[in-house]
Amino acid sequence: MVSAVYHDYSSFNDAKDFVGVFQNFDKLDLSFIEKLWGTYYYYMNNDIFATGLLIFATHEIMYFGRCLPWLIIDQIPAFRKYKIQETKMPSNKEQWECFKSVLKSHLLVEALPIWFFHPICDKLGVGLTVPFPSWTTIAFNLAVFFVLEDAWHYWLHRGLHYGVFYKYIHKQHHRYAAPFGLAAEYAHPIEVMLLGFGTVGIPIVYCYITGNLHLFTINLWVVLRLFQAIDAHSGYEFPWSLHHFLPFWAGADHHDEHHHHFIGSYASSFRWWDFVLDTEAGPEAKKKRELKMKQKAEKLN
Ligand SMILES: [Zn+2]
Ligand SMILES: [Zn+2]
Repeated sequence: MVSAVYHDYSSFNDAKDFVGVFQNFDKLDLSFIEKLWGTYYYYMNNDIFATGLLIFATHEIMYFGRCLPWLIIDQIPAFRKYKIQETKMPSNKEQWECFKSVLKSHLLVEALPIWFFHPICDKLGVGLTVPFPSWTTIAFNLAVFFVLEDAWHYWLHRGLHYGVFYKYIHKQHHRYAAPFGLAAEYAHPIEVMLLGFGTVGIPIVYCYITGNLHLFTINLWVVLRLFQAIDAHSGYEFPWSLHHFLPFWAGADHHDEHHHHFIGSYASSFRWWDFVLDTEAGPEAKKKRELKMKQKAEKLN
């Protein structure tokens, strides 16, 4: 089986090792990352397995890799002043327990569906070939996914706070009132699937409608979404945090309030849903809400 990653292998010699295959791709007019992508698929010689492994490895390496700086920062007292709930430092034991649970859940929830990912992509026409789409196309796709995932997350997460859904599913994620990076995906398997659809399902539906999406874009999106989720759970608010420059970006400041108060601030990446629907968490937001209600009541009188 020859990979579908490139349309014309006529200039290739019969190299089978990774370096030899890379040298074949190196002769083509491609960027370094495209050459690497092409080499990987050609070398693996099985697109279904290659995609499954790529998505799984990207998730694991990027998830735990991004958690590592936060684990180190937790050990450095100089950073303590940036901690949002400064009295609540996660213990090493807590972080270890969380790590084991997240890893188990990844293996359990993802082990099977990941192998269906490539056939679904194939059916819907998700591109796999080099060269990649232009950077403007990729940036546009990423922006669309961020906005749509945020809406999905807001409503699903808000729903998960109702009665039985909270009790049997979402309560697990709220075990840590003062979150830390690793806790981002500490959740019940049903929650992982429901909220995970926002990350994986939305690009698939997008491709079903538009017929135009590349697997590289999906990979990049998954990485950025992971970084967003881990940073939102980091428990740190810096003067250089993104929301100071992009006021509608949620960040740790927004999601920490959710864990602290168990209610409100349901969105993932942006602040607009909670702002417009008046569901922001925390005493400041509560005060503002009460003032608004008072003013409304006075108007009616
Ligand atoms: Zn919640
Ligand atoms: Zn959370």
